[in-house]
Amino acid sequence: MKIEVLTLFPEFAEQVVKVGIPRKAVESGALSFHARDLRDYSDGADRRVDDRPYGGGPGMVMEPGPLSDAIAAAKTAIGAGAKVIAMSPQGVPMSQALMKQLSAEPGLILICGRYEGLDERVTPQIDLEVSLGDFVLSGGELAAMVLVDAVARLLPGVLGHEGSADADSFSAGLLDHPHYTRPPLWREAPVPDVLLSGDHAKIARWRLKQALGATFLKRPDLIEKLDLSRTHAELLREFLSEHSGEKNQASK
Ligand code: SAH
Repeated sequence: MKIEVLTLFPEFAEQVVKVGIPRKAVESGALSFHARDLRDYSDGADRRVDDRPYGGGPGMVMEPGPLSDAIAAAKTAIGAGAKVIAMSPQGVPMSQALMKQLSAEPGLILICGRYEGLDERVTPQIDLEVSLGDFVLSGGELAAMVLVDAVARLLPGVLGHEGSADADSFSAGLLDHPHYTRPPLWREAPVPDVLLSGDHAKIARWRLKQALGATFLKRPDLIEKLDLSRTHAELLREFLSEHSGEKNQASK
């Protein structure tokens, strides 16, 4: 997968591939990443890419010319089929399902706005708007970096175990199960016996039960969206009878 980020702050945006899994994705060749400086497409000697809004009002607007030229250059670099995504609070909210879908694209061009946003006339060149959440950031870079991180770890061969992203929260509509490592007893808290049993079927059943329970307690909205099988409903009942004293975190 090839990703181009169009930004006024390329040194900032490329930090996402300097560490951890996204860096590994680049080193392994699964991901090619480039941050393109929008100022290189300014038509003035001052390298400005913003101007005052028609109709008045506060703030500046990103001019359509440099944006459009940068999109064209990015397409030349990574392929005309690349999906053009504008980071925007007005976009579809990020979700694991969206990340999974985007990770199957051959190329992504991520546009990071600044100031009041982009001149509306570039809209026909944009395939999708994506939002980090219902709040307003001062620029699209952090949202683009979040998207790159979430997509990079889904690319084939990037995570150690092929299947390890499948167990993550949201992959099957459930939150992840709890994790434990050494020591087996820490501050009087033991690791659950079943995890030390070596019985893989029992461990899988326990983990699924915990995942169902965690989702029910922390994100009841996710459980409501699922069509629970009889086994899953049974496991959830078991979890709830074992944890009858616990409350929904949201209501604490
Ligand atoms: N006036 C705009 C906000 C501009 S904020 C509006 O209210 O819709 C400046 C830039 O930050 C935006 O162009 C966008 O690229 C980015 N941005 C702000 N909030 C964001 C969010 N929640 N998700 C993704 N990008 C965001």
